[in-house]
Amino acid sequence: MLEVKNVSMSYGEVKAVQNISFTLKPGEIFGLLGTNGAGKTTTFRMIMGLIQPKSGMITLNGHQVSYDDVNDIGYMIEERSLLTKITVKDLMFYLGQLKDVLKDDIEKRLDYWLDRFNITEYKNKKVKELSKGNQQKIQFIAALINNPKLLILDEPFSGLDPINTELFVRTIRDFQKQGAMVIFSSHQLDHVESFCEKIIVLEKGQVILEGPIQQIKEAYQKLNIKIKAKHMDLSSLKAVNGVINIEEQPNATMVKVASKAYVKDVFDVVKNYEDVMTFDVLEPPLSEIFIDKVTKHEKA
Ligand code: ATP
Repeated sequence: MLEVKNVSMSYGEVKAVQNISFTLKPGEIFGLLGTNGAGKTTTFRMIMGLIQPKSGMITLNGHQVSYDDVNDIGYMIEERSLLTKITVKDLMFYLGQLKDVLKDDIEKRLDYWLDRFNITEYKNKKVKELSKGNQQKIQFIAALINNPKLLILDEPFSGLDPINTELFVRTIRDFQKQGAMVIFSSHQLDHVESFCEKIIVLEKGQVILEGPIQQIKEAYQKLNIKIKAKHMDLSSLKAVNGVINIEEQPNATMVKVASKAYVKDVFDVVKNYEDVMTFDVLEPPLSEIFIDKVTKHEKA
């Protein structure tokens, strides 16, 4: 289990992370989210024991985390930080041995992952000869080469096409099934939604949203109603109590209500329209809640 308890970190005057707490159990996937500069990388670096919190404590399976835990952790960082002048195989031998993986095991695992990611042909090519997406696969394999118990992925999907994104997603799910803990950051909130149960959103180092995604959505209360009808009468909709926004989209109209208590009032208006094709009550996407909370925090 990973426990982050009341952890804070600052660089001089900059309070990079302020009093963050969360726990992660085997088989859980956790999303650490936030705008640029919110404190995600700093949190990851503390979890890896690369930097020490100014206060608070981070424990991994009961002991205070330190750089000695490197053998149990896989880390994929956002920047492409590979050594690019050596071959994929040599790079993997180098990185695997830093984590005490035996050479035979490195080669076996490398062959397995290269095959799974459809890039076997690049094993003996220099890293710099690979495309950006394939370098990203190599970076991912480097994070997996020690079969980590804790997988830390900083923006793993950025720049990946949908097919390769799916490959990464399936791989992460496999690690989850084997009982690994996965913590990742992503600005692609649709992935976060489909992926993790719990999240924390940081803004300028402060926690502005946390908990299971379903609970966060219920607490937010607002719902979107997607309506398709031949003739929409927007003024009658605007007059409905609890309607807080109406957005006309190319093929539908989205009506936002303050809570589910107002859905029936909207329905009572819409049912009188001619040729109603769709009346869908939708949970707000995580991105909407994220933007709402970050904007409110910025204004506060
Ligand atoms: P991004 O999404 O842009 O990668 P982030 O959420 O990972 O951002 P951090 O890199 O953790 O954010 O940065 C948090 C804050 O700490 C920022 O204000 C950043 O400028 C500052 N910071 C990060 N590293 C250092 C450092 N080595 N020295 C001084 N300030 C730093």
